Amino acid sequence: MKKRPVLSIFADGVRYDSIKYMPFVSSLNSVPLETVLGYSITCHPSMYTGVYPDKHKIAFHWVKGKKEKGPYTFLSYFPDFFPFSNPYVQAVASHFYAKFFLKKKASPFMGYGKLLNLPMKYWNHIDINEFKYWDEDNYINNEIKTIFELVRKNNYSHHISNMHKPNLGRLHSIKTVQPKGYDWVYYFIGESDHVSHEYTQHSDEGIAFLAKLDEFIKEEYSKFEKEYSTDGFDFYFWSDHGHIAIEKRIDLYEFFRNNGVNLKNVFHLVDSTTARFWPKNETQKAKIMEVMKKISEASLVEDYEYELLHLAKDSNLYGELFYYLEGGAVFLYTIHGFGNDVKSMHGYHPDATGNDGLFVSNRHIKYNKATLPDVFVSKIKSLGIDYEPTISLDGRNIVSR
Ligand SMILES: [Zn+2]
Repeated sequence: MKKRPVLSIFADGVRYDSIKYMPFVSSLNSVPLETVLGYSITCHPSMYTGVYPDKHKIAFHWVKGKKEKGPYTFLSYFPDFFPFSNPYVQAVASHFYAKFFLKKKASPFMGYGKLLNLPMKYWNHIDINEFKYWDEDNYINNEIKTIFELVRKNNYSHHISNMHKPNLGRLHSIKTVQPKGYDWVYYFIGESDHVSHEYTQHSDEGIAFLAKLDEFIKEEYSKFEKEYSTDGFDFYFWSDHGHIAIEKRIDLYEFFRNNGVNLKNVFHLVDSTTARFWPKNETQKAKIMEVMKKISEASLVEDYEYELLHLAKDSNLYGELFYYLEGGAVFLYTIHGFGNDVKSMHGYHPDATGNDGLFVSNRHIKYNKATLPDVFVSKIKSLGIDYEPTISLDGRNIVSR
């Protein structure tokens, strides 16, 4: 396929229906984008590699015992040294440990979270799931390549802005370029997600941001149009998931306590919208399931659904019991913090209302719904990159002229 210049713009967490607040974007072709179940950490590798989480295996920030030595393995030597489980103490301890020591070993975009809820006695068993930054060589492994690596290996002239610190993801800090001579331009906008978490996406603040974003896209699109003419370049604008206003907050610790179970005695990891458990025996497993059943907003991922939802499945690494909440509900005390101030959330089931991201192009879109792996495949096709990995890609080229 012939190589074409590509302008691609990513904005985190923009809902499909937010397009009504973006006049320029709505003048182009657009379809909703189906996300994957789980937090952003599992969405990004899908859109950068063209494969689902069951292949790239980035399921969550932490896994249980991936390697012999995890970042907290040294705590095994002091089994009784940390008898406390105060969330504030743990938040501070894990924050500074990550800041001063962990960052030297691994620097994933998503960071490490604050382990404020998992009792310290369990920390020696956990390991990081994502070791490298998206654009580093072998981000996933030798076999699965990212668009960043492919563009570099093919000596394409490219410009990526806003994907690194400082000012990571802020709309106003993007360093734009004149398109002449570039094969691939990529602008990364994370602010859309932050504004949504803070105010909800369809608040006055959220809508005002969408308007600014629309203006930005229009401006950069026009530069390409001027340089290459309307038919001379491929344009992609997409998001990784939607955003749903929070209506219910669930404190799992309190809930389990009220049902006669001390959750601190169970190995578990809680994300904003999901909870993973590693029960130590069948009795504990039955008890966890009994309590979780009482939370009407929580659903257990059944065995067959792992395949259906393309989720990474290894009960040892990712938990034997994996629950998710319905749209609008969140857990408090998660690895992202206490969670009381957040107004909107993502990380829900792909079918949850409001959880669709969006996919926009100046090309004809062949399907009525895009997926995260489609973003990768369509873009590398536009760029004319020949890439035939040994592992089969999950994405499709969904645009045509
Ligand atoms: Zn996101």
